Amino acid sequence: MRVVVTGGAGFLGSHLCERLLARGDSVVCLDNFVTGSAANLAHLAHDPRLEVVEVDVTDDIDVAGEVDLVLHFASPASPVDYLKLPIETLKVGSIGTLHALDLAQRTGARFVLASTSEVYGDPAVHPQPESYWGNVNPVGPRGVYDEAKRFAEAITLAYRTTHGVDTGIVRIFNTFGPRMRPNDGRAIPNFIRQALAGEPVTVAGDGSQTRSICYVDDLVDGILAMADSGHAGPVNVGNPHEISMLALARWVIELTGSSSSVEHIARPVDDPTVRQPDTTLAVELLGWQPRVEIEDALQRTIEWFRQEAAHGLDLPPLTPDDTEHILSGH
Ligand code: NAD
Ligand code: UDP
Repeated sequence: MRVVVTGGAGFLGSHLCERLLARGDSVVCLDNFVTGSAANLAHLAHDPRLEVVEVDVTDDIDVAGEVDLVLHFASPASPVDYLKLPIETLKVGSIGTLHALDLAQRTGARFVLASTSEVYGDPAVHPQPESYWGNVNPVGPRGVYDEAKRFAEAITLAYRTTHGVDTGIVRIFNTFGPRMRPNDGRAIPNFIRQALAGEPVTVAGDGSQTRSICYVDDLVDGILAMADSGHAGPVNVGNPHEISMLALARWVIELTGSSSSVEHIARPVDDPTVRQPDTTLAVELLGWQPRVEIEDALQRTIEWFRQEAAHGLDLPPLTPDDTEHILSGH
């Protein structure tokens, strides 16, 4: 297959590109590197089946030739990122999704949208089944991300019903693993970076709020199972392993052998109180469920961060020359 991955230089996108190449597909990665990096694909740059194109998908998507599958993953995803990039986030969820759908329509490709558990907002139903409509504040700070993804879901369905595009929607729950930016602001990379540096680990509020956390390898299995199916979704893809942020912070401190203390910081506005996927549909429709134990997943991620730290954890961003070199690597 020839697969177009928007956001392919990001955390999830780079793991998808890697897995697609490993199973024999060709990959066209479209990315503007706003929150991702060509460095995430550097280890694959020798592969002639990988094409990396620097483009903002809200401007245009112009991919020549046959396309079998479009995985639309371009979007800032960390709250710190999307709060810094509110308009860009709304544009990539709306105009970017429109362009990616147009590409799928033109080429007859299947289209899979990376939606999010954020469409459930601060949920009044727990755990969240796909039939739950959510509790989102459109004019709160998180609205720029949540409403962009809700629009993206709506237009994806409209292309299915109006233009007959073969679409699928996955609602991804908090996922972690190697290649998360240590300073992207999300809880797990923050906790690991702080614990490894011996800094206080910052827990928002009293830390009783929960998330359900999934290892990236499991997530990629779920996405590809959805891509290979003909299902429209939405389907929740995530690990139901639910944990409070305080317990997670203490667990990371223990696993890193750190002497860091916990420091309580202000809770962000509209921060969801609980979140856990009901994965019945994923199991029934896709035969998918996560396999990696969370302790094992945290250890693998910590190990990756440790090795990155040995090479200088907070390296400055790549220069344009570095990026060019990586892009032209084959
Ligand atoms: P990420 O920030 O690491 O990756 C996003 C990628 O999209 C980056 O490489 C970025 O440069 C690129 N991008 C953003 N705007 C673009 C544009 N206009 N044109 C081209 N490229 C653009 O984030 P991630 O965690 O890998 O998330 C990837 C996708 O999965 C996002 O759509 C996100 O909403 C979704 N998602 C992720 C999670 C998670 O836990 N990681 C949870 C739910 C949903
Ligand atoms: N959080 C925290 N400390 C941090 C970063 C985040 O306690 O240094 C909290 C955050 O307030 C939220 C949870 O951890 O309650 C998950 O946040 P994250 O940004 O990882 O993801 P999201 O809110 O999008 O689920």
